[in-house]
Amino acid sequence: MGEQWGFYFDPDSCMGCNACAIACKNRHDTDAGHVDWRRVETVSEGEFPDYEETNVSLSCMHCEDAPCEEVCPTGAIEKRESDGIVTIDREKCIGCGYCGWACPYGAPQYGDDGLMQKCNLCLDKGPGSGADAPSKNEQQADGEALEPACVDECVGDALDAGPVGELLDKASQEAAERFEQNRTNVIIDSTGENSVTGMQGVRQATEDS
Ligand code: SF4
Ligand code: SF4
Repeated sequence: MGEQWGFYFDPDSCMGCNACAIACKNRHDTDAGHVDWRRVETVSEGEFPDYEETNVSLSCMHCEDAPCEEVCPTGAIEKRESDGIVTIDREKCIGCGYCGWACPYGAPQYGDDGLMQKCNLCLDKGPGSGADAPSKNEQQADGEALEPACVDECVGDALDAGPVGELLDKASQEAAERFEQNRTNVIIDSTGENSVTGMQGVRQATEDS
């Protein structure tokens, strides 16, 4: 496997403005309304006066053992050897929806054409999947790699993307340890000011939405 790419997210820096989600929709020209490759959820914990809310910006996690890939009957979903990004080949998708059921984060979503689509870590622009795109490292070497739109437009500097090894260098030790225990490729880094921790908070946000 080539170098795994992923996202980094710092809940303490996120202000819940949704600029990331809107930037993603604009870049990929996704269908208005119901298709959100990235979305911002709020996790609430405790009771007044010890009550806290944390914003979590969510997209596909490009999981290590991607359950969506396992259930896809046509082989449309692939965890790429070259960069670990999980893509949907819309030429092969038959719209059965199994991946949507298998994904714990609600990432694959139906477009108006009845086929599934989701985050491709900006392998390319538009509603296509990027399945045939060169690896992110090759794109970078050619000066053609797109900075993911969500990272580009993040107002709070809460999001980053890149080879996971590089992202871990900037993560706290606690976040790095949590990351090692997860089977997804998003590093959630919190200083503890906001209490959302790793995948637990992400799953809660998904369940609450
Ligand atoms: S987050 Fe969902 S769609 Fe993305 S790789 Fe994991 S199971 Fe598949
Ligand atoms: S753009 Fe950045 S600050 Fe705004 S909601 Fe998205 S992650 Fe949070």
